[in-house]
Amino acid sequence: MMKLNVWGGAGEHGRSAYLLSGDRTHILMDCGVKKEGAGEYPLIEPELVSTLDAVLLSHAHEDHSVAIPLLYKMGYQGEVWTTRETREQLDTYFRAWRSNMERAGYDLPYEETDEKSIRYRYLEDEAKSGIWFEMVPGLHVLWGRSGHLAGSVWFALEMEGKRIFYSGDYTSESMLLQEDCAAEALKLASLFRGRERRSSRINNSQLSQGMAVSDGIQLAGESLTELAMATGNSRISEISLTSSLTKRCMDQVMDLAIVDAAYGTDRDTQAEKLEQLDHAIRQTIARGGKVLLPMPSVGRGQEIILWAQERYPGVPMIVEQGLVDGMKQLLRVPYWLREKETYLKGPLTYTIGQFLDGQSWHLPKNWEDRERLLNQHAASLWFIPDGMMQSSLARWYYSQLAESCENLILLTGHAAVGTFAQKLAQNPAEYGVCEVQKVRYKVHQGWLDVERMLQRVPARHTVLVHADKAETDRLRENLLRNSPSPEAEVYSLSPGDELYV
Ligand SMILES: [Zn+2]
Ligand SMILES: [Zn+2]
Repeated sequence: MMKLNVWGGAGEHGRSAYLLSGDRTHILMDCGVKKEGAGEYPLIEPELVSTLDAVLLSHAHEDHSVAIPLLYKMGYQGEVWTTRETREQLDTYFRAWRSNMERAGYDLPYEETDEKSIRYRYLEDEAKSGIWFEMVPGLHVLWGRSGHLAGSVWFALEMEGKRIFYSGDYTSESMLLQEDCAAEALKLASLFRGRERRSSRINNSQLSQGMAVSDGIQLAGESLTELAMATGNSRISEISLTSSLTKRCMDQVMDLAIVDAAYGTDRDTQAEKLEQLDHAIRQTIARGGKVLLPMPSVGRGQEIILWAQERYPGVPMIVEQGLVDGMKQLLRVPYWLREKETYLKGPLTYTIGQFLDGQSWHLPKNWEDRERLLNQHAASLWFIPDGMMQSSLARWYYSQLAESCENLILLTGHAAVGTFAQKLAQNPAEYGVCEVQKVRYKVHQGWLDVERMLQRVPARHTVLVHADKAETDRLRENLLRNSPSPEAEVYSLSPGDELYV
């Protein structure tokens, strides 16, 4: 028997923390905060912390990472397994959380020394994506890129005879970031493993090259041609398996899947979201207005900037430093960038490099500069850091644009309860006369994505996470209405719930 304890993250947005307990092994997947008031932390059971064998971290966002120091404060002495890129970003998130809380007058439940105590281990040092490895005795892990943020991953686990899938925050529709399709990676990995068991001559280095077939290896009763077809391309994400291969791998049903369903019953594709964004921007530009686009420093901001640059070549674009820094950061991590073109043309490193070298946008250097640019340009696009609009810079920009009904504040992502962005979205007229619109750019899964994941990564128990309870309930009902498999259970849970699988 294996038990899932939801310490946070199901039926809510924030504080993702999922405890898996077997008879011998205990692991925690993510440990984040909820950005409300003094911050809501996961419902950690302190007496269990010292029993944890490993903590797995899917990505750097604070709703997955920022409560990890609390584990160390409570006595955790083990390791946190994540990617090097996530580690690179974490200090920024820890620092931002600390300073936000201090500014708001709240105490943190842990010290800075607890942040320093974290012992990191890197997934890519053990195995490439798509390759199983033993993380701690009795726990086998396979990871892949989840397309959500540079460094973000999904996990598949094998523990005490159970198979578990955790999507982390997941999207296959990023314009910039590569996703390793979990379904295909799992099928391919199981194929390799089948052969690994049958042929002791396939060693781990051959597997990690993504090439299990080499000269002279005879694989009992199997056609080498099919395997060669699957392995001839070393990029797992590009491999589409033949139907007979797929069937042979379908015995790999998960016992438990924890699946990002943050966009709930929203059925839009990214292409539809971009159309909506385009419509809102064009309307504003046509009437001579300014569009303010507040974005997190790293993430969707860079995608929308590059898209807008291609889409509106004659429209002046102003990009604040924080977002430019995020763009530079992407250039340093080509492994996480998308390999095929989507809405953006040409190789991405080239596109990003072009942007950074380019003269086609303005970077305000100081307040004087900002005011000059505001006076100089009528119809224009303004990309500023801080998607929640809590910073003084975001508030200042808002105050500059609020008094003209030609202008548009365009919100493109999650706004936590109590933040200015959320208040503005709820009641724009209370703060100014400019237009406010919300078009959610996709960095998570919506209804159709979850439906596809349920079919392609089949599980006996699937827990939908990352959206509020009412929306998760609605999604669950809709999914069950066209459920492909009546014996598969789909759950909408709440923090504090437990589930036996
Ligand atoms: Zn995230
Ligand atoms: Zn998240």
